[in-house]
Amino acid sequence: MIVPRFLDVADETIRPAEMGIRLLHDPVMNKGSAFSLEERRRLGLLGLLPPHVSTIEEQIARVLGNVRAQPDDLRRYVEMISLLDRNETLFYKVVMENLEEMMPIIYTPVVGKACQVYGHIFRRPRGLFITRRERGRVREVLRHWPNRGVRVIVVTDGERILGLGDLGANGMGIPVGKLSLYTACAGVHPAVTLPITLDVGTNSAELLADPLYLGMRENRLRGADYDELVEEFVLAVQEVFPHALIQWEDFANHNAFRVLETYKDRACTFNDDVQGTAAVTLAGLCSSAALTGLPLKEQRFLFCGAGEAAIGIGELIVAALAAEGLPKAEAAARCWFMDSKALVESTRRDLQEHKRAFAHDHAPIADLASAVRELKPTALIGVSGKKGQFTREIVAEMARLNRRPVIFALSNPTDNSECTAEQAYAWSEGRAVFASGSPFGPVRRGDQTFVPGQGNNAYIFPGVGLGVIASGASRVIPEMFLEAARTLAACATKEDLAVGRLYPALSRIQDVSARIAAVVAEAAHARGLAGEPRPEDMLAHVRSLQYVPAYKTYV
Ligand code: NAD
Repeated sequence: MIVPRFLDVADETIRPAEMGIRLLHDPVMNKGSAFSLEERRRLGLLGLLPPHVSTIEEQIARVLGNVRAQPDDLRRYVEMISLLDRNETLFYKVVMENLEEMMPIIYTPVVGKACQVYGHIFRRPRGLFITRRERGRVREVLRHWPNRGVRVIVVTDGERILGLGDLGANGMGIPVGKLSLYTACAGVHPAVTLPITLDVGTNSAELLADPLYLGMRENRLRGADYDELVEEFVLAVQEVFPHALIQWEDFANHNAFRVLETYKDRACTFNDDVQGTAAVTLAGLCSSAALTGLPLKEQRFLFCGAGEAAIGIGELIVAALAAEGLPKAEAAARCWFMDSKALVESTRRDLQEHKRAFAHDHAPIADLASAVRELKPTALIGVSGKKGQFTREIVAEMARLNRRPVIFALSNPTDNSECTAEQAYAWSEGRAVFASGSPFGPVRRGDQTFVPGQGNNAYIFPGVGLGVIASGASRVIPEMFLEAARTLAACATKEDLAVGRLYPALSRIQDVSARIAAVVAEAAHARGLAGEPRPEDMLAHVRSLQYVPAYKTYV
C-alpha cells in the first residue's frame, strides 16, 4: 500500500472508514494508542486500537522499555528505526528527551554496524536511491519524493562510511541518521529533510557476494561517468528543490575534495567530513586555551592523518588565525601533517593536491614519534582512522614538551581511536587536554575525575543547517564554520572545563544549535547571501523555527 506522507484529515474524498487505517500507517500523523476517544470516533479509528488512550509519557516508557530490553545495540537500532517508520513524533520525543542514550544508537557508533548489515536488517525503504540507471531521469526520481518543500539533503555515495570503508548502497543508514540528528539536535523539521544515496556501485567483494545486498551489483563508477551523474544530481536538486542545502557525507577523499571544490560556489552546499569536523575541532582547540593558557595563535599543530578531516581542520585553523591578523602563510606554517607514508613536506613528489598547501620546507620524517620530537607541537590531532597511533612514548613526549598537552584522538569508531581517554590521562600523568571522536566514559585518576569531551560533528552541522534555513542562505561559506566554532567554544562552561570537557553537555545541544544557527544566519546576511528578510532578534527567530515533537489534535 502506498501511504501519502501528509494525510489531510479534512479531506472529504477519503471515506471515514478508510481514514482511520491510513492515519495509523502515516508516520507523520500517527499517534498510535494516543488518539483520543473523540478522534477515534470521528476519524474511523474505532476498534482499530486497544481501548486505553495512552499519554505520550506512557508511550515513551513503553518504547524505552522495549529498546533497553533488546539483547544488543544493533537490535536497539532496528527498534528505533521501526519506531521512526511508525510514529515520527514519538521517535523524536524519545530521542530528544534521552539524547545521550539515543545518539550512539541512531548515529555513530551503532549506525556503522547497521550499515554493514543494511541488506539483512532492511524493513522499509527510507530516502531516495539514484543509480546510473537513472541517468537522464534524476529529476523524475526527485519528484517522487512527496514533499516539495525540502530544505536539507544529506547525500552519500557510500565509499567511506565512518571508518568502515566502502559499504556501497548500505551507506544509506548515514544520511538517514544524520538527518535525524538535524531534527533531534537543532529542531530542523523532519518534513523538510531528505536522505539520498548515489548508488554508484561498490568495490567491496564481500558485499558483491552477499545474496542479500540491496545495491547495484557492479564496481564503482569512476571518472567522467561518475562526475556526470553527480552533476545531473546537483542540477536536478536545484530545479526540484531550489531552496535545499546539500550536505555531502562520507565520500572517499579522492572524490570529496573535488566535488566540494566544484560545487561550493555553484550551490548551497558543504561537506561535513571536511568542514563540520573542522569547526567542531577548532571549537575544542579554542576551549582548550582556557586550560593550557595558550591562545590559538601560540599553538603548533601536528596532525596524524592528512585526509578530509585533517585538511579541513588545517584550513579552518588558518582561517581563524588569519582572522586574528596572522598572514596566511604564517598561519599555515603552524600546521604539520603526517600521512600514511611520512611527514607532508616540500620534497615529496607523491602528494595529492589537497595536501600541497601544507607541504612546508623540512627534511623528511618517517614516523610520528620522531615528528613529535622534532616539531615540538603543542597539540596532537589524530584523524588517521588507525587505532593506537598515539603510543605511550608519543603521549609521554607530548607531556614532556608541554605543561598541558592537547591530545585529540578523533578517529571513529571507538576501536579506531589513536588512543583511549584512559591512556591519554595515564601516560601524561593527568595533564592531557583530551577530546575524542567516539564517546569515552569518565576516567578516575586518584581523587580526580576527568570527563572527556566528544568532538562530535552533531554540535555543528545541525545548527549550520538551521541557520541556512533561517536566512534562506544561497551559499555556505567558511565564515559560517568559523562563527559556529567560536559559538560552540563559548558554550562550554567553567564547570565543563573544570572536568576537562571541552564541549557543552549534550543535554544543551538544542540551545547550542540555536545559537550557532543565529550566527550562521547573521553571516549570510552580512555577506549578502540571505534570501529572507533580516529579523530584529535573530536568536528568537531561529528558536521560533525549531521543531517540537508534540501530537496535534485532529478534531
Ligand atoms: P581520509 O581517508 O580522508 O584520511 C585518512 C588520512 O589518514 C589519510 O591522509 C591517510 O594517509 C592517513 N593515514 C592512514 N594511516 C596513517 C598512519 N598510520 N599514520 C598517519 N596517517 C595515516 O579519512 P578522514 O575523513 O579524514 O577521516 C579520518 C578519521 O577521522 C576517521 O576515522 C573518521 O572517523 C575520523 N573523523 C572524526 C570526526 C570527529 O571526531 N568529529 C569527524 C570526521 C572524521
